[in-house]
Amino acid sequence: MVRSLARLQDADLAAMLAVEAPEEGWIMGLGHEDKLRRAAEGLTPPPLRDDCFALPGGVDWTPADQALALLRARLHRVVGQEQVDLSGALGRVLAATVTARRANPPDPNSAVDGYGFAFASLGDGDQILPLVQGRAAAGVPYDGKVPAGRALRVLTGAALPDGVDTVILQEDVSVGTGEIAFRAGIKPGANTRRAGEDVGEGETILAPGRVLTPADLAFCAAVGVARLEVCLPLRVAIISTGDELAEAGHATRPGQIYDANRPMLSALVCEFGYEVVDLGKVPDDRAALRRALDRGAAEADVILTSGGASAGDEDHVSALLNEAGAMAEWRIAIKPGRPLALGLWRETPVFGLPGNPVAALVCALVFARPAMASLSGAGWFEPQGFDVPANFGKRKKPGRREYLRARMRDGRVEVFKSEGSGRISGLSWAEGLVELPEAGGEITPGDSVRYIPFASFLRG
Ligand code: AMP
Ligand code: MG
Repeated sequence: MVRSLARLQDADLAAMLAVEAPEEGWIMGLGHEDKLRRAAEGLTPPPLRDDCFALPGGVDWTPADQALALLRARLHRVVGQEQVDLSGALGRVLAATVTARRANPPDPNSAVDGYGFAFASLGDGDQILPLVQGRAAAGVPYDGKVPAGRALRVLTGAALPDGVDTVILQEDVSVGTGEIAFRAGIKPGANTRRAGEDVGEGETILAPGRVLTPADLAFCAAVGVARLEVCLPLRVAIISTGDELAEAGHATRPGQIYDANRPMLSALVCEFGYEVVDLGKVPDDRAALRRALDRGAAEADVILTSGGASAGDEDHVSALLNEAGAMAEWRIAIKPGRPLALGLWRETPVFGLPGNPVAALVCALVFARPAMASLSGAGWFEPQGFDVPANFGKRKKPGRREYLRARMRDGRVEVFKSEGSGRISGLSWAEGLVELPEAGGEITPGDSVRYIPFASFLRG
């Protein structure tokens, strides 16, 4: 390798070393394989090793999909359940099947304001029907029977009285004294709703895992269901790590920055409908972090940390997870994102998110989000993405999946002017992410790229 590098032109070497964000790490020569291979020609290749298919140390990156598949396979609901009224059910995760206590609609009724009669009693051609006294209104049924060949005033939502199976719209009728006239051509059953045409009594209306929406609550109420068995909210502990962190609004010492991740991650967890357990910020001190993780494991179902997830001197999150022996995955091949540490601490899953706010958000959305959905009882989900034309150009290196801060304007997706992972302004500017697959290549304006709105991460 050294000999090959020495043979490279200075400019080629410079190109390999020119990376925008060296603090995120990169692989020397990635994307320049042709030049490297050419420089290496003439060298005798070493013999194949037994472990030739194992990745060399330091580049054993797990593809994002593999990491996601692993999370999907291994995580499951960890929360208990309780009963709540509809008023407290919005956003909660159903824990049991809901069945209709009665049909919707419960009775046949009128879909319009008009006049009801028995279709079979109509003659041929245009019609003149004498009216019977009274009317049927929603909640105030007509308690008599409408004789054949007669019509009754009916209003929207009124149960159809005996003797009525068809309703003519009031706009299609001329009203005389005690009678109505209308043209031929009405169909049997017109403008009525059949009992149970929406849902029958005893039918399953919602399945476990459903995250309840306002419409779901309407659905439950309409079929007479007032209480629901739901999962207890997932409790998510949030910890920021780093000696450099100060609380927004407080005085800073030299070299300090404000903790941006905790407000962001707390708000995100709230948006997902989970309960935030704010464990504050912890200095780069192993004992303090151990105490915080212990508290997280005791008080929460899952722990999100940010910072200290790499393999450096002050990267205590990954060190502790390694020490606990349950470090499952890290070095996932995404940008921004490395390092991401996943592990168990006292049987509680820990997502060791990167410290950079941009990377922290991307990793929280891409990995922690679906994982937390599994843990919450809602089940795994994939955020809905859309293939849309790009309004930008970019050369992408192969090897890892990339997420760009993006937003849609005029049917095209544009990306933030800088990919710097410390640029929080770009996170705030963005309304979603562009996801670029592992393969390298050139994107030119007009090419189709995958855009995932932030809203898609709320519920796929
Ligand atoms: P680390 O992953 O701990 O090496 O942190 C990577 C970068 O993110 C460093 O520049 C940190 O100062 C920064 N960082 C870490 N935690 C936070 C945080 N909570 N808010 C803002 N920046 C942070
Ligand atoms: Mg740190």
